[in-house]
Amino acid sequence: TADKPFVMVIFGASGDLTKRKLMPALYSLFKDNRLPKEFSILGVGRTVYSDSQYRSYILDEIKKFIKEEDQNETWIDAFISHLYYLSIDPAIESEYGLLSCRLEELGGEERPDNVLFYLATPPSLYGVIPLHLKKWKLNTKNSRIIVEKPFGYDLESAQKLNKIYSSVFEERQIYRIDHFLGKETAQNLLAFRFANGIFEPLWNRKYIDYVEVTAVENLGIESRGGFYETAGALRDMVQNHLIQLVALTAMEPPAVFNADNFRNEVVKVYESLTPLNEVDLNEHIVRGQYTASNSKKGYREEKGVNPESRTETYIAMKLGISNWRWSGVPFYIRTGKQMPTKVTEIVVHFKETPHQVFHSADGNEHPMANKLILRLQPNEGIVLKFGMKMPGPGFEIKQVTMDFSYDKLGGVPSGDAYARLIEDCILGDATLFTRSDAVEASWKFFDPVLNYWTNNADAPLYGYPAGTWGPLESEAMMHEHGAEWTNPCKN
Ligand code: NAP
Repeated sequence: TADKPFVMVIFGASGDLTKRKLMPALYSLFKDNRLPKEFSILGVGRTVYSDSQYRSYILDEIKKFIKEEDQNETWIDAFISHLYYLSIDPAIESEYGLLSCRLEELGGEERPDNVLFYLATPPSLYGVIPLHLKKWKLNTKNSRIIVEKPFGYDLESAQKLNKIYSSVFEERQIYRIDHFLGKETAQNLLAFRFANGIFEPLWNRKYIDYVEVTAVENLGIESRGGFYETAGALRDMVQNHLIQLVALTAMEPPAVFNADNFRNEVVKVYESLTPLNEVDLNEHIVRGQYTASNSKKGYREEKGVNPESRTETYIAMKLGISNWRWSGVPFYIRTGKQMPTKVTEIVVHFKETPHQVFHSADGNEHPMANKLILRLQPNEGIVLKFGMKMPGPGFEIKQVTMDFSYDKLGGVPSGDAYARLIEDCILGDATLFTRSDAVEASWKFFDPVLNYWTNNADAPLYGYPAGTWGPLESEAMMHEHGAEWTNPCKN
């Protein structure tokens, strides 16, 4: 389908995601000659724009979001000339007649079959738009649909959505996007594990003590208070992104690297997670909310937030994976807003040597425990920590680092995750998108937590001052294992 005239229809085209991520990604594909030769991008929304008004709106916006070295007037103008706009309310079925006509116009003689619908609207429309597309027979054989997160807000709603989607499209046409998987460094985790012989034999309960997955940011909720109140950290980050990173770290090597085999292995990890209704949730989960500190507002003071809100902006969890490879190895995951820095990384802690004959030079209690840090952002790279003898008399051991930085491969292109994923979708490769069973398995795992919070108004929610590493209780959770959170600022 890559050579056929291609139309991408963006619902929510006047929104934040479209200008900040989708248009810059499409521009970068265009500039690199990676879009089909004949293509149009049709923005759809209630805001009224003519084609030329929409073009000048995107022209102004796109320049703010593309890298300086990619700014090229000629290319930008050429890209913009492929944009069109249709003002309809996507919630109203009868208005899809206009969409159908517009698609016919863009197709020349007939309605193009090679159409990609991108749902960048509020999630309340995710279940509505596909049904309207079906009514107007726009769900043609070669059409595809990309749906933004969140796909559902619990197991039941995700199942309902899946039912709607499977009544309109075949699974091969449905692309549930998780932009973490579009990141070069997330994919590199697979290359690191499965293209190297030396780590895989160690990658199990015999040699690994525990694993940390951290995805935190130093901003609050910015202007998205209304949205965040309905989500919270568990729905916004943990149920999709963090659990996906756990799967990449813990999965078995697929026999063949393709969409089905890869996603089968992901689902197997989700299904092996020790069910949360079998553990004491207060011991396994620390929920936090940032409070005012220095010049920073507390969450409850943010615009659009209930002054008595119990929505979590931080979550730390201890997960178990009940299978032969991982039994007994805790996976500690955490995410939070208003942390000291923005970082996403996985830290694999190897077990100490069985017997220690040397002393640590720097007072480090675990000089013989190797650590592997897979840094997804920023300063993308991989660091291995290991002990070396300090020069001079005696045998004092110091931890040193062996370091691979992406800068050595020319840096990570900023065309970024969205470009990679949109291109994969155009090419029909769903490997890096979430399959229906994976979404459901993940919600099924987290549902007990959501229910527990709903049914126990007094379930702990700890405050933490904005700009700190979260509630102290999350440290206590690690101490039980004789461990502590890695401070990414010190690596
Ligand atoms: P947004 O700016 O709030 O909304 C996108 C567009 O949807 C708006 O411009 C609006 O266009 C339309 N819209 C809003 N409310 C509507 C309603 N009630 N009925 C019909 N249309 C409505 O959202 P966004 O930040 O671009 O995000 C879009 C989706 O992507 C969201 O579901 C979000 O969860 C997801 N997402 C966003 C980001 C991000 O960085 N922004 C990141 C990951 C995922 P009109 O008024 O013109 O119709």
